[in-house]
Amino acid sequence: MTTSSVPPDAATNARAIRLLALDVDGVLTDGALRYDGGGNDPGGDRIFHVRDGLGLKLLMARGIDVALITGRRSPAVERRARELGIECVIQGRDDKAAALTALLDERGLEPRHACYCGDDLPDLGAIMLSGLGVTVADAPDYIQQRADIVTTACGGRGAVRELCEWLLAARGELDDIIAGFETAADSDAEQKSY
Ligand SMILES: [Mg+2]
Repeated sequence: MTTSSVPPDAATNARAIRLLALDVDGVLTDGALRYDGGGNDPGGDRIFHVRDGLGLKLLMARGIDVALITGRRSPAVERRARELGIECVIQGRDDKAAALTALLDERGLEPRHACYCGDDLPDLGAIMLSGLGVTVADAPDYIQQRADIVTTACGGRGAVRELCEWLLAARGELDDIIAGFETAADSDAEQKSY
């Protein structure tokens, strides 16, 4: 796994992670918002990376819950989440830290059980309170300096897949997963839709 900045204790912290919470714009996407001038659903379109999708499904299959926390509202985000089996989608929230804290409380989890990945100032509180705070390669320097891990990939360009694989590797599960795909005939059919 290649991440540009991984502190020595991060792998230890990774083994406590029960919930991966993700910002959407700039993390699962490259941050682009499509406006057509027509006034319908402005900025509603999103482009997701297919490999991020499989990474999240693999993570969920290994018992790590995934949640999306985004400041905007978009049916495209709901659709992508549904496609991947992500049940927790919190939209229209700029107070990411408060949303994440409430989510942890609901689930009886502590901050050390959370990994949060975001790319901009509204994410900073959530990045800093989480057991593992993560940002992406194209996030501003001051976000990168405060995160535990900075992915080598940019948002919307495989950053989430990189994070998923890093978490699975830290749990000692990535090699088994890869080996399972070497004998693809018996790989989980559900994972083929991502
Ligand atoms: Mg963002």
